[in-house]
Amino acid sequence: MLSKMRIVIIFTVFCILLPVSLIVGNDLNQNNADNVVAAFKKSSEEDLFKAQEMFKKLEEYEGPKTVESVLVPLNELLVVIDRGENLAHLYQMAHPNAEIRSLGEEYEQEFSKLGTKIQLSRPIYDAISAIDTTILDYKTKRFVAKLLKDFRRSGVDKSPEVRQKVQELEEELIKIGQEFSKNIREDVRYIELNSVTELDGLPEDYIKVHQPDPNGKIKISTDYPDYIPFMNYAKSDERRYELYQKNRNRGNPQNQEVLQKLLEKRYEFAKLLDYENYAVYVTEDKMIKNPVAADEFIKKVAQVAKDRARKDYQVLLKRLKMDEPDASKVGLWQSYYLSNLVKQESFEFDSKVLRQYFPYEKVKKGLLALTSQMYGVTYNKVNIPVWHSSVDVYEVWDGEELIGRFYLDMHPRENKYKHAMLTYMKTGISEKQIPEAILLCNFPGGDESPGLMEHGQVGTFFHEFGHLLHFIFGGDQPWIKISGISTEWDFVETPSTLFEEWIWDADILKTFAVNENGETIPDELIGKMNRARKFGLGLDVVQQMYYSAVSLNFYNREPHSFDQLDMVKSLQTEYTPFEYVDDTYLHLSFGHLYGYSAIYYTYKWSEVIAKDFFSVFKQKGLMNPSLAQEYRKLVLEPGGSKNANILVRDFLGRDFSFTAFANWLNKDDI
Ligand SMILES: [Zn+2]
Repeated sequence: MLSKMRIVIIFTVFCILLPVSLIVGNDLNQNNADNVVAAFKKSSEEDLFKAQEMFKKLEEYEGPKTVESVLVPLNELLVVIDRGENLAHLYQMAHPNAEIRSLGEEYEQEFSKLGTKIQLSRPIYDAISAIDTTILDYKTKRFVAKLLKDFRRSGVDKSPEVRQKVQELEEELIKIGQEFSKNIREDVRYIELNSVTELDGLPEDYIKVHQPDPNGKIKISTDYPDYIPFMNYAKSDERRYELYQKNRNRGNPQNQEVLQKLLEKRYEFAKLLDYENYAVYVTEDKMIKNPVAADEFIKKVAQVAKDRARKDYQVLLKRLKMDEPDASKVGLWQSYYLSNLVKQESFEFDSKVLRQYFPYEKVKKGLLALTSQMYGVTYNKVNIPVWHSSVDVYEVWDGEELIGRFYLDMHPRENKYKHAMLTYMKTGISEKQIPEAILLCNFPGGDESPGLMEHGQVGTFFHEFGHLLHFIFGGDQPWIKISGISTEWDFVETPSTLFEEWIWDADILKTFAVNENGETIPDELIGKMNRARKFGLGLDVVQQMYYSAVSLNFYNREPHSFDQLDMVKSLQTEYTPFEYVDDTYLHLSFGHLYGYSAIYYTYKWSEVIAKDFFSVFKQKGLMNPSLAQEYRKLVLEPGGSKNANILVRDFLGRDFSFTAFANWLNKDDI
């Protein structure tokens, strides 16, 4: 997941100047909460003040309109806002200090507000429009075109009344979105087990860290490291049902009104700008162009996966009947558990056996070594003050040149963001600042446990790291709006999804998947794992298409014209063979409804392209350094300086096609 995607309508800006380590100074080292709060306040206030001054100066500028007089100061202004906004966002999501988290929320609103103001500034829009673009290089031309488009999409050419209203709506939307996300993030629920026997089926290391408390109870939370293994392996159907229900009750009821408000305000926003609804607005600047095409795409993928999904479901049902002869259907809380059983029994594959080969530290080391070899870069661990002691910091060197820095905040803790995402502090600007990225994840480890990861979590790590490298390699651009991952949103998941493929390759896995006895993952296990991979794929794809349909259908109509719960229920049965589970509220904890609004489809769209890209790597070698370099140069390095369909054509030598994806889905030997 991507943090920057959280806000659709504000300026998508990025940053310059001081690294965050200087912004927060050594105060964090002193472990003095007051100082930390004061330092954060000071740096944010200074940036806000500075940005306001720069904004004022730009608005009042009356001289000749040139790159130097308009674009350069505007770029610098966007950089300051981006720096402030991203730091505030990070702290809101991950800082251990409650006061800082809440200050982060406030400052994010302040910076966003200013971003909106700029985008609605008629004098600045007119100044950019007056620049003679005929003599500009293609990157600067693209920066100008992007700026003008974003200004127009914010309503800068509308009446002052409409502009005023747009600004108010944008500010409200930030607050509503923050509330929606916070209600999900802070709502951790638990089930209480009465004895260790209710942990039957779970791996030993899990049982070891889930021993009864003094009252004899074992708490299992909805946080991923607790939730995922439990849903995969716990034998107790009743307890899995209970935990599933708890998880799908997060955000309920507190997000009911918040979500309704979110949909209403976005609809109002779209209407003000003369769009039919918010889905039309948000798809306009994507590869897909409009919600009708998005709907067709979702249906097409679901159709391709349908037969396979039906077969998968029947296999699960057959397996369930072995334990419960009267069962007539499979429930959602049973699907992962049964799927694992089938894999164990039919494919002789037990995913639990894999975990021993994926202790967090080894996976991290392996991932760094692999990418270093592929792209010819080196990583250098550095010690600088950070927001939490578990955060690792690395510099990225390309030969003699420092090209980026990243922060790994990888383990769960209270009040931290619950999923996995890339976020950042600074977007790269050529010759001015290197890109600085952060991964916020929730993997095992970082405590006394051996930190054994599920194979799926290793996939998530690779996925997020794919984003991170895109952000860093794409970070050598002169203008903020074409730097990093500022490509079309429905292309942005391509590099990350592509990189997930690496964790299925035997040669690659053997470079790092080693257990504590020093044994490397055996070939036989990798073979079984790959054969079992295809099982359940049909169900996974239709489930993803179900989420995509929820996301699109919440936004492609008037928000009072439907009942949200009815919609998620009916789409569930339209897209998947599973029935909706009573007393669950998927939409109230579906964070993407804020961050991605109508366009959850982007994951699958990007994946279709990724499968096409992967066919090239498969043919020429996953660790082929010249191919990796070519890919880096043609796809990652351009950042947002070219249209995504051009990047695709540059790499493939043609437009992308659906074939690789459909073959992968429906043929067992691919
Ligand atoms: Zn992603």
